[in-house]
Amino acid sequence: MYLKRLELKGFKSFAKKSEFVFDVPVVAVVGPNGSGKSNIVESIRFVLGEQSVKSMRGKTGSDLIFKGSRTISKMSRASVSIVFDNRDRVFNLHDKSNSKIDVNFDEVVISREVFSDGTNRYMVNDHEVRMKDIHELIASVNIGASGHHIISQGEADRYLNANVKDRRILIEEALGLKIYQFRLKESRRKLEKAEVNIRESEILRRELSPHLKFLKKQVNKIEKGKQLRIELSKKYNDYFSKEDYLIENLTNKIEIEKKYLENKLNEVKKFFLEHKDPEKRIYHKEDDLIKKKQIFIQDWQGKIDINNRELGKIEGMLSLLEKKDKDDKANKSNNKNFSYIQIDFLFKKILSLLSRLNDKNILKITSDVEKEFDKFINVDESDDNSMNIDNSLEIKELKRKKNVIVDATKEAFSYISELKSEINLLEKKIVDLNNEERESQKQYYGYVALNRELDSKREILSNKIDLINKRVVDRNEEYNEAIVLLGKDIFSYQRVLIDSDSLITEYTQEKFRRDIERIKIKIEDIGGGSGIDVIKEYEETLERDVFLENEILDVKDTIKSLESIIKDLKLKLDLEFNTGIEKINVQFNKFFKLMFGGGSAKLESLLIKKRSKKNLEEDPLGFINEDDTKIEKEYGIDIKVNLPRKKVSALEMLSGGERSLTSIALLFALSQVNPPPFLVLDETDAALDEANSQKYGDMIETLSKFSQLILVTHNRETMSRAHTLFGVTLGKDDSSTVLSLRLEDATKYAK
Ligand code: ATP
Repeated sequence: MYLKRLELKGFKSFAKKSEFVFDVPVVAVVGPNGSGKSNIVESIRFVLGEQSVKSMRGKTGSDLIFKGSRTISKMSRASVSIVFDNRDRVFNLHDKSNSKIDVNFDEVVISREVFSDGTNRYMVNDHEVRMKDIHELIASVNIGASGHHIISQGEADRYLNANVKDRRILIEEALGLKIYQFRLKESRRKLEKAEVNIRESEILRRELSPHLKFLKKQVNKIEKGKQLRIELSKKYNDYFSKEDYLIENLTNKIEIEKKYLENKLNEVKKFFLEHKDPEKRIYHKEDDLIKKKQIFIQDWQGKIDINNRELGKIEGMLSLLEKKDKDDKANKSNNKNFSYIQIDFLFKKILSLLSRLNDKNILKITSDVEKEFDKFINVDESDDNSMNIDNSLEIKELKRKKNVIVDATKEAFSYISELKSEINLLEKKIVDLNNEERESQKQYYGYVALNRELDSKREILSNKIDLINKRVVDRNEEYNEAIVLLGKDIFSYQRVLIDSDSLITEYTQEKFRRDIERIKIKIEDIGGGSGIDVIKEYEETLERDVFLENEILDVKDTIKSLESIIKDLKLKLDLEFNTGIEKINVQFNKFFKLMFGGGSAKLESLLIKKRSKKNLEEDPLGFINEDDTKIEKEYGIDIKVNLPRKKVSALEMLSGGERSLTSIALLFALSQVNPPPFLVLDETDAALDEANSQKYGDMIETLSKFSQLILVTHNRETMSRAHTLFGVTLGKDDSSTVLSLRLEDATKYAK
């Protein structure tokens, strides 16, 4: 790979298209002051992606465009192209994903344009690319925009002027480690971005979490609600099937009862039409008759009593008379005496006969009594024929009376017995009438009771009808409510079949209703609605959460690999830097000795800062305190010089020439260790005296073996070492013009 060409158009003083062909190891750009030599150096910086307009001596991008002269008008853009030979295919673009940039060509042409508004356009082989791509592309061949290979005017001592930290950066760049730094920076940037991403994702997840939880709860509720609705619709289906069956059953029963009642009522009505209330009949006639007959009996009994008393009297008198008669007879004749015992015997016999007296044997008893008396008296009479006539008459009379009374008594007894049997008949009649009466009353009051019973039954039936009507109303209300709650579809499927054996009662239905109410309350608690929106939101939120979770995991992986990349890069950088410093020091010391004819010089690592750096591996999210972070050491580069025969320890103590020599020694050492494809030195030799110019020229020749050299110079010694000279002059049109001179001519020109 080597630099082939440089083309300028409209860049600064180069209004016309100017071309520089670098086909020799050393070219020198010569020309009077202000002719535009340094503009060429700046054009190289520019095309390689320099971002600092100031370093190209401008304020804005438009300062880089030809401003116009008396003869040439102001231009609207400046363009510079640099052409490299790439037959060895060293150009490489790290970002392989960008398929637009193909550098697999023999020539790589990098172009940059700047427009009056300050905008830039970059191209690689006519493909527009990003500035970043240019940076990476040139880093891959060990050149950079403001790198070590372009030393502008007065910039030779930049290594000496820089502070220790910047010096390390410059040296790193000179060692070709910029590509690592670049990658390190990229990786760190990516790492930072990843950390930010992970933090943002975590924050988002944390923010999402309560909402997700809330939605999850809602979704669970909705799911539960759905289950409850299914349960409810099943229950409803079962309930209504049974309820309808029950209502039908109850209605049928009521119909039957109603019919039965109607029949019974008709029967009762008919009975009452035909039967009056049986009044309580009192049987006065029979009772009166009985009473009258009883009075008769009493009368007769009274008469019997009187007769008995009369009879007693008569008998007493009779006995007295008969005794007297006997006594008289005994007195007259030895008539048999009646002892007291005989009389007492007779008396007792009569009493015993009388004691057997009752209604039936009354006549017989009286006749027996009479016979006893006859017997007693006759015995007496037979024994005494000479009875006193007076006594006999009286006795006769008494006996007649007695007979009359006995007959009367007999008659009375027969009347009494007759009356009693009549009373018996009457009483029997009353009993019969009473029985008859009781029977019809029983029937009547039976119907009265039945009527009353039917009344209450009718009342009960009417209540039942009210209840069944209410049941139907309730059922319909419930049905409508069910439709409102669950939609019409729930009843579209097959009703539950009720088999006739199943026991369905108001009680079992009530239990059903209670179950239904319970489920309804639960559904109400959960809240209505199908929740489609909530479910959708939940799914979206969950998806987002899962996405974030995965993203966090991915980013964590990325962080891990970035950290390992960073670690590797740092290790490589450190290693290459340290070996680079060692190599530089060998060359630096050699060139220094050559320039100064002795002494020594070296670069030294210097610890400048301990920087705390979070341990990203352990704490990728940055949750650990700053205190718990790792310490990262930062080094700078110090320059130690030792002049021959002089006690100089600090760089500040060097003279201008000495400073220049030291700078050149270091510059050349760097170029020797890590030769850039080309090296641009703008008047680096300005401060050298003749002897040193000679040494400088020698070193140039050494360096040209490793790098192409483009030297802007006024130094004849330097010019003499070039193979081609580009003479730059400011033309009549006030724009720079280039004249190319080959080696032989150049030597002539130099002499
Ligand atoms: P020296 O030998 O003194 O260092 P030089 O040859 O390096 O001089 P430069 O510094 O390259 O000269 O060129 C400076 C010249 O370029 C100045 O004359 C300046 O006016 C001119 N110039 C700078 N920018 C523009 C521009 N945008 N348009 C036209 N001319 C410009």
